[in-house]
Amino acid sequence: MTDRSAEIAANLADVRARIDAACAKAGRDPADVRLLAVTKTFPVQDAATLVDLGVLDLAENREQEAGPKAEAMADLRPGAAVRWHMVGRLQRNKARSVLRWATQIQSVDSDRLVDALAKATTAALAAGERTAPLEVLLQASVDGDPERGGCPLEGLPALAERVIRSSDLRLRGIMAVAPLGMEPSAAFERLAGVAGSLRAEFPSAVELSCGMSNDLEQAIDYGSTCVRVGTALLGGRGLASP
Ligand SMILES: *Cc1c(COP(=O)(O)O)cnc(C)c1O
Repeated sequence: MTDRSAEIAANLADVRARIDAACAKAGRDPADVRLLAVTKTFPVQDAATLVDLGVLDLAENREQEAGPKAEAMADLRPGAAVRWHMVGRLQRNKARSVLRWATQIQSVDSDRLVDALAKATTAALAAGERTAPLEVLLQASVDGDPERGGCPLEGLPALAERVIRSSDLRLRGIMAVAPLGMEPSAAFERLAGVAGSLRAEFPSAVELSCGMSNDLEQAIDYGSTCVRVGTALLGGRGLASP
């Protein structure tokens, strides 16, 4: 084992221990909280190390970086059942390319993006570029600030309805980042409420993706089913990186 893989293994053990402790505190089963490793800005070798350690859910936030990384992974670990998740802002003209590698897109926040993804998925399925429908999480904006992406909370039911109407998209739930300048717990409490009412209306919307390196405990306390962790697994990304 290289020094770097030993470091990643130790970080992973820490993160798993934090998830287990948060679940114990919240009276939840750790099997109900998926760990999504955010590998953005890190080399594919680091992502492959995570795969070797059993982390098969990987996330990226830029199509330009993720596409080549997913391809490199297919060469490095052929046959590994890796699921790539898109968690960053997506331009509509990138819809077709993101479908080549993404199992799931967690950052769907507008009607126009839903329509572009629906059309691109249908085309990709017809062309044999993918075999599975696209899993979609709606990105919720807790504070409604349009600058940071996400759909305002009151817009989520209509957006969910639009996803449901497309035969090649599968609505899976919602994703959010705690807004700057707001207590993460307060944000997660509101999200838990929204996730609950969405689930009541759309039974397939089971996922609540929230919690990152700094606030995963609070997120698990409020019912997160998917924590997205970058820094605590792979280290800091430096100031210039997204
Ligand atoms: C980068 C990123 C993360 C991971 O953040 P860390 O603080 O490094 O754990 C989670 N979610 C999204 C949407 C991200 O862009």
